Amino acid sequence: MNIPAHTNSLEAYWLPFTANRHFKKAPRLLARAEGMYYWNHRGEQLIDGCAGLFTSALGHCRPEIAAAVADQLGILDFSPPFQFANPLAFELAAMVAEITPEGLNHVFFTGGGSESVETAMKIALAWHRVRGQSQRQRFVGRERAYHGVNFGGVSIGGMVKNRESYGIGLPGVAHMRHTWLDENRFLPGQGPAGAELAEDLQRIVDLHGADQIAACFVEPIAGSTGVLVPPQGYLQRLREICDAHGILLVFDEVICGFGRTGAAFGAQSFGVTPDIITMAKALTNGAVPMGAVAVKDEIYDAVTGAVPEGGIELFHGYTYSAHPAACAAGIATQRIYREERTFEGAAALAPRFLDRVFALRDLDAVTDIRGYGLLAGIDLAPAQEAGRPKPGARGYAVLQAAYEAGLVVRVTMDTVILAPALVAEDAHLDEIVDKLRRVIAAS
Ligand code: PMP
Repeated sequence: MNIPAHTNSLEAYWLPFTANRHFKKAPRLLARAEGMYYWNHRGEQLIDGCAGLFTSALGHCRPEIAAAVADQLGILDFSPPFQFANPLAFELAAMVAEITPEGLNHVFFTGGGSESVETAMKIALAWHRVRGQSQRQRFVGRERAYHGVNFGGVSIGGMVKNRESYGIGLPGVAHMRHTWLDENRFLPGQGPAGAELAEDLQRIVDLHGADQIAACFVEPIAGSTGVLVPPQGYLQRLREICDAHGILLVFDEVICGFGRTGAAFGAQSFGVTPDIITMAKALTNGAVPMGAVAVKDEIYDAVTGAVPEGGIELFHGYTYSAHPAACAAGIATQRIYREERTFEGAAALAPRFLDRVFALRDLDAVTDIRGYGLLAGIDLAPAQEAGRPKPGARGYAVLQAAYEAGLVVRVTMDTVILAPALVAEDAHLDEIVDKLRRVIAAS
């Protein structure tokens, strides 16, 4: 298999989050996939260390999901989602509501994680407005948070690179500190002293006024910025502060959702129930783009009850909200999760995964390892150039060398992220970690 014959140039495609010019000199193409493996355009097999992009929890190309999507496209390929609905949307929403924490029983569909975040921000504002609190317009995010790439999400997010080219973003956003602490290096699971870090939210409340803040957004585990596991008591304390001041607590579970932490959602793994959960990725096993926002009953009831019969309650939605093909993929995916007890399998596999990953700490280049469930981040010492660190260079070299060695991983700056499919077997974990060990050792 080669680069498609109808083009003799790679120039037309502008790749997202990619060094385009460098990439096009030696493209890394993934042409086919099955289970835990990809095959590139040269026909070489690569093991998938990141379940697609945290999407493909059941492995790639599950026949049941492919068949459900293909069938659906022959039955109903599209239906307008405003003022009409396709029957599958109700079925999938009910399946999702069944596995969310108690009380979050209403589901709004979007086209992906970034749209879910924007939707959650708007729902938060709409909820305060219908309760006569339209002055609550501020949001709280966190350093080293990733909430997608649209303007709201970039503004509450805390990734410097994602923000610096685009000006000031949304006004009225305050950031808490991230939760990575130097003294917790190589500590498996949750570190201590979370409640202390969560006091940042109280400080922001004190500074801006308790009645000014609409919502506080956190990923239960910050995934894309290197797998920052919440310290003990952290999420609990955020919940208490939000409750004390009428602030909505939003968990962005785009990565954590659907079994990654060993339960359906991080909310359940960490024992804290937010008011809103954003999700995407493994909702459809990544087979068709789709995101969702689950909200508490009080929020749905208040917002939808606020207008007279026939009036539109939330002026928000996407052409591709609840697309029939995405719903079909979602239903087939959720059915497999249930029937195969995938999340329980992930919980059982997690300690064996983390043991293997933490064994990499003996490598000189590895400066920290963090992990929880089937998610791990491995920090590498930055490469040096003329006696100065060159952040990101070693990570990029590892990404390339891993590809050449038959391993696909996610790299953010000098951190390697592993997130194997929830259905991985021990031999797959060995293959992923052994290959990564060799690549890091040679880097
Ligand atoms: N929120 C979180 C926590 C994410 O990890 C991501 C994607 N990695 C997003 C939002 C954005 O999702 P998408 O790329 O589907 O827009």
